[in-house]
Amino acid sequence: MHELSLCEDMIDLLRERAKVDHYSQIKSIQIEIGKLSCVESYALIFAFSAAAKGSLAENATLKINEIPGQGWCDQCASEVTIEQRFDTCPHCDYYPLEIRQGDKMRIKYVEVI
Ligand SMILES: [Zn+2]
Repeated sequence: MHELSLCEDMIDLLRERAKVDHYSQIKSIQIEIGKLSCVESYALIFAFSAAAKGSLAENATLKINEIPGQGWCDQCASEVTIEQRFDTCPHCDYYPLEIRQGDKMRIKYVEVI
């Protein structure tokens, strides 16, 4: 389950940041998960509570925004919404599409105490 290592990395990052910004506890974390990022929201929430135990993020609320997948089709020059990374263009069936949005997971903001 790669969600657990994602959460561990995220908490390490927050711990480093806490030294610079002088906070000791995190109240909430807003995360954006792209639909094409292969990260499952429910698995992430589950992994987060395990990874946060005993850390500065132990009682933090995790808020997740799902970002739709967007691709660009070179053949019909249009931006299309896609569900999966390897989807073809819904208009002309062209492949591959250039992924424009939705392939990343990122921390949008962190609310600290
Ligand atoms: Zn197309």
